[in-house]
Amino acid sequence: MPEYESVIGLETHIQLNTKSKIFCGCKADSWEDLPNTNICPVCTGLPGVLPTLNNAVVEKAVILALAMNADSVQPISYFARKNYFYPDLPKGYQISQYNEPLAVGGHIDIPLPKGGIRRIQIEKLHIEEDAGKTVRDNGKRLIDFNRCGVPLVEMVTGPDFRSADEAAQYLIRLRQLLRWIGISNADMERGQLRCDANVSIRPIGSTDLHTKTEIKNVNSIENVRAAINVEVRRQIREVEAGRKIESWTLDWDETTETVRKMRSKESEADYRYFREPDLLPIQIEGGWIREIKKALPELPLARRARFVEQYELPEYDAEILTEEKSLSEYLESALSTFDGDPKVVSNWMINDLMRMIREKDILAGDLTIQPGQLAELIQMVETKEITGSTGKELLEKVQESGKDPKIIVETEDLGQVSDEVALRQIAKNVITQNPDQVATYKGGKSTVIGWFVGQIMRETKGKANAQLVQSILRELLDKA
Ligand code: ZN
Ligand code: MN
Repeated sequence: MPEYESVIGLETHIQLNTKSKIFCGCKADSWEDLPNTNICPVCTGLPGVLPTLNNAVVEKAVILALAMNADSVQPISYFARKNYFYPDLPKGYQISQYNEPLAVGGHIDIPLPKGGIRRIQIEKLHIEEDAGKTVRDNGKRLIDFNRCGVPLVEMVTGPDFRSADEAAQYLIRLRQLLRWIGISNADMERGQLRCDANVSIRPIGSTDLHTKTEIKNVNSIENVRAAINVEVRRQIREVEAGRKIESWTLDWDETTETVRKMRSKESEADYRYFREPDLLPIQIEGGWIREIKKALPELPLARRARFVEQYELPEYDAEILTEEKSLSEYLESALSTFDGDPKVVSNWMINDLMRMIREKDILAGDLTIQPGQLAELIQMVETKEITGSTGKELLEKVQESGKDPKIIVETEDLGQVSDEVALRQIAKNVITQNPDQVATYKGGKSTVIGWFVGQIMRETKGKANAQLVQSILRELLDKA
């Protein structure tokens, strides 16, 4: 039995986060609206209406084209009608782009979990409108037109993935990139990032592919991974049994974790594409592209590499701190006022700040505690003005109140106690009150010293200088 490899390409539909829809003034995001309340004659395709192109859609699409290193953002591209009959498509056609799309060629690099980078070729990027939604309800089919005319870009990759894991990795990176450049919220559960996977197999070493199938409507990255794995196994079983793989469109069923045949795949001819007569071509001037390029932020992989280079952070830290743009900006802003090893700030962010961010389900940029305040707080721990545990509490207090760490430390008297006389007195009391523990220590179990440190920390509300306490305790216990 030959070994097989899978050859996978992804088509993603990305919902742009513009205020209004692509061809009318209805708002684009109606996730929370009642069905059919965010519609007008244009997006429901009533007779006699004309579409007007939303400029913000083109701008956001160009931003993405530049971020995916497009070989060319076409100076002129055209809309086309993609004709098909489906209840949630009221016009009977979708306004899309066909053989003259907005951008052609390009690539997105994805770091692989085992190291190294895989370059995924992007074949094309085009603009189109979304269709409505069909909702199943007790055996009835209901239609919600709210989503009609929501702006989408469709991105098609080359057949460059060799495993479901690589495809999943790509989606993680794409989602990161889309949020980073601010053109889409890319929430898969809300359908803002949708993925169809073209899957085929071939014996390893061969260039002859078996027929491919397309899996549609997969609504999470984990499901994309699972669906591709299931489909690859199904195709191998078919081929091994001497059957031919049919060119099907498949539906992923999340509950049974199986793929189901939806229909035989349409061919291009079925769509009877022709140029959209109601819209002018999109003309993009070089000057505008240069302007957009200038405003493009440093992209995640470049920033990650720079964090390693400039701040000497470990790859691991740099990776985590560039997961999201405002987090990476938070780090840099904190470092700009911090005097010391950047790794210390990185640790605080990864261990403490990010926990806070996750708990509150916000972005770093939405925190009350400002980067400068975090830097000040860490500085106080580093210079031993406060203890590490006071620092952690202080973090919460600054986040709650917005007050500067120094002020809170002063007004609440949180400064580290390094007063040797006072600490010695507390240590003496603890020792005389606990003869059993002293005996244990004397009996050779020196780890019990940690228990004594804990008692003193309790007495001082965590403010005692732990190193000093240790040395005082050792001295007193050895004499006891
Ligand atoms: Zn409308
Ligand atoms: Mn499409």
